Amino acid sequence: MNEKKLQQYAELLVKQGIRVLKGEEVWITASAQNHGFATLIAEECYKAGAKYVRINFYHDKKSVLDYQYMKLKDLGSVPSYRIAEYKYMLKKLPSRLYIEDEDPDAFKDCDSEKMAKARMMSYPKIKPFADKMDGKYKWCIAAIPTAQWATKVFPGISEEEAIEKLWDAIFYTCRVEEEGTNANWDKHNAYLIEKRNLLNSLDLRYLEYKSSNGTDFKVELIKGINWGAGVEKTDKGKLFNPNLPTEEVFTTPLRGKAEGLVVATKPLSYEGKLIEDFSIRFKDGKAVEVKARKNQEVLEHMIKMDENACMLGECALVPYTSPINQSGILFYNTLFDENAVCHLALGMGFKELLPDGTELTTAQALERGVNDSMIHVDFMIGSPDLEIVGESFDGKRTVLFKDGVWAI
Ligand code: ZN
Repeated sequence: MNEKKLQQYAELLVKQGIRVLKGEEVWITASAQNHGFATLIAEECYKAGAKYVRINFYHDKKSVLDYQYMKLKDLGSVPSYRIAEYKYMLKKLPSRLYIEDEDPDAFKDCDSEKMAKARMMSYPKIKPFADKMDGKYKWCIAAIPTAQWATKVFPGISEEEAIEKLWDAIFYTCRVEEEGTNANWDKHNAYLIEKRNLLNSLDLRYLEYKSSNGTDFKVELIKGINWGAGVEKTDKGKLFNPNLPTEEVFTTPLRGKAEGLVVATKPLSYEGKLIEDFSIRFKDGKAVEVKARKNQEVLEHMIKMDENACMLGECALVPYTSPINQSGILFYNTLFDENAVCHLALGMGFKELLPDGTELTTAQALERGVNDSMIHVDFMIGSPDLEIVGESFDGKRTVLFKDGVWAI
């Protein structure tokens, strides 16, 4: 383990991720397995001036026990102390840092039907709070290796070696070096924002995707909606980087307006199962046919999680030459895998991309065409010969992507 890089990484999460300011409250969510790293982050937050740092520890093994032993009605309920917690969050809006280190297979032996039902039951109780907080607080998701995750990504070597390799992969894809990591991110953010501004200036109505693998797809965008990338702003203008790493420039398409076939170019890890070699056909904006060589039923189940799960919430552009794709690693973790190549996401859209988005209720945003669902699942469609053409509201056509990379 390179201690210098580890320190740079911790600072990256605090200085570029949630960008802690003096007097702020910070909530960290981390696995009990990685208490050491979470504590290191807590110290960085205090050094940056945080008033109070709270760490919520979880443990996958304990969650597995919950799914195994608890009754569905208890699993799906939201106890009053958690409601009180949400009320507190809504009032104080602490910055939130999520340090992911899930084991991709942790829940593979759990009853996925029971898990899905529990989520469907608790979701409506939590959702109003989440909606009201949307766009109002700083947050960041980053990751840290565990033995289970590392050995899944790098099978056939010792646990220690695998962890070391996963750390190296995280450092590489997060542009972490022994020094100058912060400056790397200032530069990378500037590059992403330049692309975002360019896309915003094009006033695009349609995106058309074509690839020799069979992708032939057209999606309509929402008039006036913004593209997002890299650093984001709360409604009060506070900056934060919600995802580390991040390579994408993304928007939310118009609900109900997508036609054609998209062929996935990477497997999708969903609820502990790997969906492989799949394609999705859209008609009137809905996924009407899914095919997969492996775990097709998981994909079928996913798009039926609720009535809008079959519609798109995101179109994201990522060059095929991204560090994550170049690493050649399948991380079994969306945070990394979604930043490998161009992707789409089924489910929830981002209402905050509408110019007045943070003031809108979810129902109002839905009326404007921003999809809403309990799922948001990214899947990769970027290929070495992907071409994406944008057509503006006044009919002007621009090649945005050629041979899998930016053409603008
Ligand atoms: Zn995305």
